[in-house]
Amino acid sequence: MTARYAVIGNPIGHSRSPQIHAHFARACRQDMAYGRILAPVDRFRETAEAFRAAGGQGLNVTAPFQLEAYRYVTKHSVRAFACGSVNAVKFEDGEATGENFDGVGLEQDLVRNRKLDLRGLHVLLLGTGGSAHGVLPALLAQQPARVVVAHMDEDQARDLAARATRSVHSAARVEASDYRGLAGQRFDAVFNATSASLWNDLPPVPVTVFNGCFLAYELAYGDTTSPFLRLATNAGVRTLADGLGMLAEQAAEAFAWWRNVRPSRLDIQQALLAT
Ligand code: NDP
Repeated sequence: MTARYAVIGNPIGHSRSPQIHAHFARACRQDMAYGRILAPVDRFRETAEAFRAAGGQGLNVTAPFQLEAYRYVTKHSVRAFACGSVNAVKFEDGEATGENFDGVGLEQDLVRNRKLDLRGLHVLLLGTGGSAHGVLPALLAQQPARVVVAHMDEDQARDLAARATRSVHSAARVEASDYRGLAGQRFDAVFNATSASLWNDLPPVPVTVFNGCFLAYELAYGDTTSPFLRLATNAGVRTLADGLGMLAEQAAEAFAWWRNVRPSRLDIQQALLAT
């Protein structure tokens, strides 16, 4: 019987996960279907339960539901527990198990695909939502000198920084700031984990954060360059990346977790070309 999976979010029309998983299914000879589910913003649980009741075997979870998915699942992987956020769910043996592959997806894209090394660097992470929770432990594991988490509300940034500091052994200094507090601070790499780009918007980050910065990484992806990457380009940042590589890497991890067969490096590269 065809196994059913889906990505759930709001908005969801932009998601390239269905193309990537369709490619992996063909390459790994898996009889599976993978769709998109648009859940009303206040109906994540009901929508996920309806999919499960209809025989769904797993979900990828994207904005804005990853923190809610953490509360929805009945069991957490060690990594999901450390992140406080869930981006993949498996329905099996009466449990809804939550995992988080965003961090490993980002790390693979940075280290393996782009040969970038964050060791000893000053890193800025914008946003405190599900994906920021997912990637912060992985960023800290890279042993940067310092990571600043930024949000409109400095207390939210402080909560996320404190949570990650408790869950990861890293020599990195972890700090929190609101956007105004970033003025005049210097960073080597800036990661945009806000969902502003989904609405063609820009987080209110002072342009001075790009002074001397060599990497601007946008977790979102799309057909056009995001306002964040345009700002970074105009400020002279040399290395620009969107989240497509990270998406394909985390998708391969989720596929292997669900299906017990791992897409090859070639499958991942070809999936990227196919999207
Ligand atoms: P969430 O909804 O969980 O969090 C969004 C965050 O962005 C919140 O901190 C929110 O602040 C903030 N935010 C929203 N709009 C603005 C704005 N205009 N200015 C400043 N901050 C803003 O979403 P996710 O964390 O799950 O996703 C964030 C982005 O990352 C999305 O674009 C998503 O598509 C992308 N993503 C990419 C992945 C990949 O594999 N490439 C994986 C996962 C996510 P507030 O708390 O005030 O609402």
